[in-house]
Amino acid sequence: MADLQFEQVNKIYSSGVHALKGVSFTAYDGEFVVIVGPSGCGKTTILRLIAGLEEVTDGEILLDGNLTDVSVKDRNFAMVFQNYALYPHMTVRQNIALGCDLKKQDKESTQKKVQEIARVLGIEDCLDRRPNQLSGGQKQRTALGRAIASDPRIFLFDEPLSNLDPSLRGQTRRELKALHGKLNKTFIYVTHDKTEAMTMADRLIIMREGKIVQNDAPATVYAQPADTFVAEFMDPDINFMQGECHEKEGTYLVKTDHFEFESTAVSCTGRVTLAMRGVDFCFDEKPCSIKIDGTITAMDNLGDEIKVTVLSKLGKSLLVRANSDFSKMVGESIRIWIDADKILVFDGDGKRI
Ligand code: ADP
Ligand code: MG
Repeated sequence: MADLQFEQVNKIYSSGVHALKGVSFTAYDGEFVVIVGPSGCGKTTILRLIAGLEEVTDGEILLDGNLTDVSVKDRNFAMVFQNYALYPHMTVRQNIALGCDLKKQDKESTQKKVQEIARVLGIEDCLDRRPNQLSGGQKQRTALGRAIASDPRIFLFDEPLSNLDPSLRGQTRRELKALHGKLNKTFIYVTHDKTEAMTMADRLIIMREGKIVQNDAPATVYAQPADTFVAEFMDPDINFMQGECHEKEGTYLVKTDHFEFESTAVSCTGRVTLAMRGVDFCFDEKPCSIKIDGTITAMDNLGDEIKVTVLSKLGKSLLVRANSDFSKMVGESIRIWIDADKILVFDGDGKRI
């Protein structure tokens, strides 16, 4: 099986909306690629172009040659949606078999295949029920079963877990990841949920307003976000602070109203934005080098951790993560510490340096 390649793809809808702006990426054979980004950034458009439900305005989609030359019915991709798209008058067995029937297998082998897929997905007991007699999770498994039955070249998922309740979402996430391991097929999975993105992806593509802003392994995206948008998208609690950077005898001095530090890693001058994660703050000096004094203005106790809001003496509000045994109270003064190495630095345009 070949790699799927987007080359400078643009999609402009007839309404004039420029949904994809020069999108290029490769989904390697067998990879689990997650495309993540806020609503309206173009994720579904990418899947619809692959499936052939929309045409590219310009650019190319390649898979063993140019995909635009292949008719929709010959593309053989299976798409799994948020709303399941099951046939309400058909049983689970019939819905799953729809995937097989396209390939014109005989009845007996179709039934065997449906049974086996239902077993793998844990919905054997539901085979003779109709969709309105199923829970959300069972509906989602049925939709997935139909996709597996069609033995597609590539699986396309459009926010398939959004309608499930949180506990089932976690479980289904793990099952999908395991299924990917078993099937050995390329998965292209679209979501706006950063947890799904982080936990499932071999590679993460982050989109904003029709463009790819980062394409990396999940751990890299988290540790080295390409810009302030990615940093905040992956960690909504991250703290930003404005500063300046000056060259000083071969090193660079990063300065904010609150602190300054020398860095050999940063090489830029002028306005910068610093980003600090709540988890990277600590409450004692060792081994951190930078200190900020303030007052606790709020505490959100999440059970396993506490989100502490600290208002610095200079009026900057910072969200800091504390362990559940944190003993201070709202209104108390506090000194927090962070290591300069933990601080992410972005240039005047918000790009990481
Ligand atoms: P996402 O899946 O990331 O939420 P979409 O790919 O659905 O985003 O949409 C990207 C942009 O294209 C949005 O501005 C959306 O309103 C627009 N769009 C999507 N489908 C159509 C369509 N059929 N006609 C016109 N505009 C569309
Ligand atoms: Mg969408």
